[in-house]
Order: sequence, then structure tokens, then C-alpha cells
Amino acid sequence: MTYLDWFDDHAKKHQKIIEKLTAKKLTKEEIIEYFVFENMVKYEPSFCPLYAQNKKCHEIEYLSCYFCACPHFRFKDSGIEKIEEKTKYSFCAINSKDGSEGVYGDAIHQDCSKCLVPHTKKYVTKNFDQDWKKAMSKCRSV
Ligand code: SF4
Repeated sequence: MTYLDWFDDHAKKHQKIIEKLTAKKLTKEEIIEYFVFENMVKYEPSFCPLYAQNKKCHEIEYLSCYFCACPHFRFKDSGIEKIEEKTKYSFCAINSKDGSEGVYGDAIHQDCSKCLVPHTKKYVTKNFDQDWKKAMSKCRSV
């Protein structure tokens, strides 16, 4: 699956949930709480493959799934730049101190496994947008 395939597919899933919650007239705060990991595992099992194993992508007590992936993630399926023999496909726009570059053969991908930036309640509240694609509008590097 390419980054773009995942991105478009995830946008649809996110939108469907938002439509359901707004039809029920949930407030912003209630929507944010709905996207907390434990609730999502219970009510939205198809949103993330990790839910089937009840496994968090980051071992933290409060984990918001609202901004999965991350508004600061940048990707380009055809490659962003060539670095010697390797191709870089993604990077972090804010150069998070907890992010890193993962090298997989001749491919370089941003590794966010140790970064918690988009998963906290504070971040989601501050950057909240019901339109996930709008919130993620800078992720696609063209
Ligand atoms: S390293 Fe952190 S801030 Fe940067 S793209 Fe990944 S999750 Fe987002």
C-alpha cells in the first residue's frame, strides 16, 4: 500500500465516524473523547489494524487516535529526494526531537514510533478540525 492509498482510505474512515458523531450532535470535547484509544477499540474496530490485538502504537496512558497519522508528517510516493543511492519518501516538518529516519534497504522513511506529538489531548484540542483531510492538508508533498 502506498502512502497515498493509506491516506485516502483513512480519510474516508475518519469522515464516516465524524458524520456519525455530528449527526448525534456531539460537542468538540465529546468527539475528542470518542477518539481515545480504549473507546475506538470498542466502537470502531475497523479504524486501525492494531485494535484487533488491543495494541497501542505508543505505550502511553492517554492515546488519542484523532490525528493518526500526524499533521506534521510529509510524504511523496515517488520520492522526495535522492540521498546517495537511497530515496527519501517521508520526513517530519517540525523535525521533532523524538522522530528519526528509518532506513529500509534503499528507502528512507520517517520513523515516528517514539514521537507522541499528535496523540495528546492538548495537541488534538488545539489543532482540532472535523475535516481530517483539511487538518492533514500539508502532508502530501507534491
Ligand atoms: S516525528 Fe512526531 S511530529 Fe514529526 S511527523 Fe512523526 S509524529 Fe509527527
